[in-house]
Amino acid sequence: MKKYDVIVIGGGPAGIFAAGFAAQQGASVLLLEKKRRCGSKLLITGKGRCNVTNSEEDPRKFSEALGRNGKAFLTAIYAFGVSDTINFFEQRGLPLKVERGGRVFPDKGKASDVQKVLDDFVTTSGVELRTGCPVTKLKYEDGVITAVDTVAGTFCAERFIVATGGLSYPETGCSGDGYRWAEQSEHVVVSPEPALVPVQLAEGWTQELSDFNLKNVHIGVRQGGKIITERFGEAFFTGNGIGGPIVLDMSAEIRDALKRGEVELVLDLKPAVTVELFDKRLQRELTANSNKDFRNSLGSLLPKDMIPLFIRLSGIAAEKKCHSITKSERLTLLSLFKAMPLTVIGVDGFKKAIVTSGGISLKSIDMRTMRSKKVENLYFAGEMVDLDGPTGGYNLQVCWSTGYLAGVSAAESL
Ligand SMILES: Cc1cc2nc3c(=O)[nH]c(=O)nc-3n(C[C@H](O)[C@H](O)[C@H](O)COP(=O)(O)OP(=O)(O)OC[C@H]3O[C@@H](n4cnc5c(N)ncnc54)[C@H](O)[C@@H]3O)c2cc1C
Repeated sequence: MKKYDVIVIGGGPAGIFAAGFAAQQGASVLLLEKKRRCGSKLLITGKGRCNVTNSEEDPRKFSEALGRNGKAFLTAIYAFGVSDTINFFEQRGLPLKVERGGRVFPDKGKASDVQKVLDDFVTTSGVELRTGCPVTKLKYEDGVITAVDTVAGTFCAERFIVATGGLSYPETGCSGDGYRWAEQSEHVVVSPEPALVPVQLAEGWTQELSDFNLKNVHIGVRQGGKIITERFGEAFFTGNGIGGPIVLDMSAEIRDALKRGEVELVLDLKPAVTVELFDKRLQRELTANSNKDFRNSLGSLLPKDMIPLFIRLSGIAAEKKCHSITKSERLTLLSLFKAMPLTVIGVDGFKKAIVTSGGISLKSIDMRTMRSKKVENLYFAGEMVDLDGPTGGYNLQVCWSTGYLAGVSAAESL
């Protein structure tokens, strides 16, 4: 039976990088992917556009954004940093551009173009790829892994890299196999939790505006009368609540706050102006439209699709003439623009989580090489490691950096 130098399990961004870079070091590499094709999750990233990385090129600042475990990521990001990621894709014919918040996207292309570059990388670096080939078991002899069982038979290797992802969006192939294998060989697994998740609201009307983009808004999270965290940027209503980057980035704090008691979001649709200035603006609009019905007066303040909802929520009769609107009605309207309260009833779970927090504890991994501290020929990479960051391209960079480091380290150790 052929014995490979390296077997990589999982054909997501981390596994592909690990396999390709191990092969570029001269190793014979077999990449095993459960699904019919690689990168099922990558194809849905960034709403199909794929936010490849973040333009924060300072490794220290980048690592700080990953929170409590960020420091341990430094070797990986020094080994393969943001500019390496950008060069990797641009040198393979995929120009990138930087958008708001340092988000790096393909200039004209889509997530499928990113995946195409990765598929070509697998081929040109000489990796042998088997798709539709779930690994069912890791086989051990004398404390090291010697082979893996798959539906297509048993494959042997000197080194093994596990990059099977987390638990989010299970339809993309992630079912926690890597966590189970790690636990079986005495690695510490920090309880996986859904992270970067949309928030569920009591307000049933969010369905009407689902996927309607709220650009440049401010959202505060209020508990016990106090704002406990807040963000400015983009959000959108969903079928049962609210999502989008600023909500996802606050979702962990919202989940924690819910454990303590009731939580509200306070949505400011006009954060660039103060309440007083916006009240003056409202008064001007109502005066300018004084003989019009209220329903025809909001066109310059709100997108068309939101007007019927605002009329309903304001409690002001749609046919009321603007000149008859009372001060108290205007103040109600003002608060809808500047401090709309939204009642949080929960946060979504793994099905809608962008990433999984927790995973293989960094205590069980030598983060200078991504090698397991428990099994000497085993390496880990990607989302399954206990490292996760905010939205903005941070999580894919974790995959590129740890995938690269695991691949090169495994090959160099041969
Ligand atoms: C909707 C959505 C949007 C996102 N957008 C962004 C974004 O724009 N930017 C960003 O930085 N991050 C984004 N992310 C996060 C990012 O996609 C993940 O962090 C990244 O895909 C993790 O890569 P990975 O290689 O570790 O795991 P995955 O991409 O999950 O790949 C793991 C692979 O392992 C395979 N596998 C699992 N078990 C087995 C087995 N037993 N045998 C063989 N193969 C197996 C799976 O089929 C899968 O293909 C998004 C995530 C989601 C869900």
